[in-house]
Amino acid sequence: MRKENEVLEIIARLKKEYPVTGPFLDWSNPLELIVATSLSAQCTDERVNTVTKSLFKKYKTAHDYASARIVDLEKDVYSTGFYRNKAKNLKGLGQRLLDDYGGEVPQDFTSLQTLPGVAKKTAAIVMSKAFGVHESVAVDTHVFRIAKLLGLTTSQSIESVRRDLNAIVPRKHYLYFNELLITHGRKVCIARRPQCSSCILLSLCPTGKENV
Ligand code: SF4
Repeated sequence: MRKENEVLEIIARLKKEYPVTGPFLDWSNPLELIVATSLSAQCTDERVNTVTKSLFKKYKTAHDYASARIVDLEKDVYSTGFYRNKAKNLKGLGQRLLDDYGGEVPQDFTSLQTLPGVAKKTAAIVMSKAFGVHESVAVDTHVFRIAKLLGLTTSQSIESVRRDLNAIVPRKHYLYFNELLITHGRKVCIARRPQCSSCILLSLCPTGKENV
């Protein structure tokens, strides 16, 4: 089966298995989505959602982040881990938005990547979710791992896997493919203990066939 057709079959099977994907990060505007996605590095969505519940009440604008004291931001994001770096990025994010984008989140994939703490993965998610423009598959640890297990790519770097997936996943499904694989990675294709014998993708998966 050609890889493009395999992807369509994978999406169809996962869609049937998970009519509802997630839960994912809570947000209500592009700034909140960037902040939540930045905080989600090395942290669960549930933990981030707990933290952002009060964070988003306290910091509503780019100016709020830019003018915050680092010690306060550190305290506010402490439980998401790597709090020093995350707090620094949030303050820098607010400042950069004020300096270069009039305090607004730019609706542009390349510009987004100039913001502190925002790399291609976050930029792709923000473009898809906040602006409805699908620029790239967002490759997180689940997507990276499962795409390789399924034989969709043999690349070793996140950037190469991203390029490989962008070439075989239909653009309109970039975000959906990411969400389906994350959901599958949490429920069945769990790192270090994938449940291959009960996996809906087994017949399509070279790794699973070796495992069972
Ligand atoms: S068959 Fe196994 S390795 Fe392949 S996607 Fe399913 S759980 Fe993951």
